[in-house]
Amino acid sequence: MSLFLITRRTLLTSLSAIALIPTKILSGDAFAIDSNVLFLRVGDTTVQVFVTERLPSGLTLVSVHENEQPAVAAARRFVERHGGRLLELKSQRQRLVTFRLAGTRYTFDPNRIFTSSGIAKSLRLNGPYSRPAHDAVAQFAERLIGYIRKNLSPPLIAVHNNSAGALSVESYRKSANLEREASRVAINPKLDPDDFFLVTDELIFDRLTAAGFNVVLQSDQPSDDGSLSVFCLRNRISYVNVESEFRHSGEQSRMLEAIADVSRNHRSAPNRG
Ligand SMILES: [Zn+2]
Repeated sequence: MSLFLITRRTLLTSLSAIALIPTKILSGDAFAIDSNVLFLRVGDTTVQVFVTERLPSGLTLVSVHENEQPAVAAARRFVERHGGRLLELKSQRQRLVTFRLAGTRYTFDPNRIFTSSGIAKSLRLNGPYSRPAHDAVAQFAERLIGYIRKNLSPPLIAVHNNSAGALSVESYRKSANLEREASRVAINPKLDPDDFFLVTDELIFDRLTAAGFNVVLQSDQPSDDGSLSVFCLRNRISYVNVESEFRHSGEQSRMLEAIADVSRNHRSAPNRG
């Protein structure tokens, strides 16, 4: 299996200058894995969206932070095992995306661009701001959302990595800095607090809590930081962020497996749409 992965990765990298690259490689059983690369422009920068898809279709997973490769690897293993689709942003091997427009250099966080106020804040936080730059990022975000929503069967799964002691489930507990961003928090003291779910759906919150995970239910009035979770809440798309420490790839895989169980039940539950 690892040989197969290397081959596919090498193939994609070597062909990445071409506009759209469909490849179909049999993974040893009846289901083929399709890999495409889509190209999104923002200013003078090209961002690649690597799409890995395996039938039968299933969940959509997305990675927007290119520096968080352990999360991407866990997501790819998940798609290979269960089917579904992984969308993976690649541009400059960094967390942030930088582009030039009319001679000025702008930078944004690709998980802060899904609302207009998020775009403005992210550009200003990372450098200069202008209306044309704002519009370029908005157009980029809109096209990316279009790809994500195409054939989407919720919940939408985002994968992220964090560093020990930075963002954790503890950040959302009472009197902590993100307390107001959560309406409920479940903490399992036996687990590392850096490994946690952030979800927008109470039913999924309850099921993951019952399964013993660290889980945050996002407030229904979160701060507008332009993140994908805020976008999903506003657009009534069930969203699950699988957040894990960089070195905890095994735990992130276990968390994704739990999501496969929960979302299977979620979609077949009689009172849910
Ligand atoms: Zn991230």
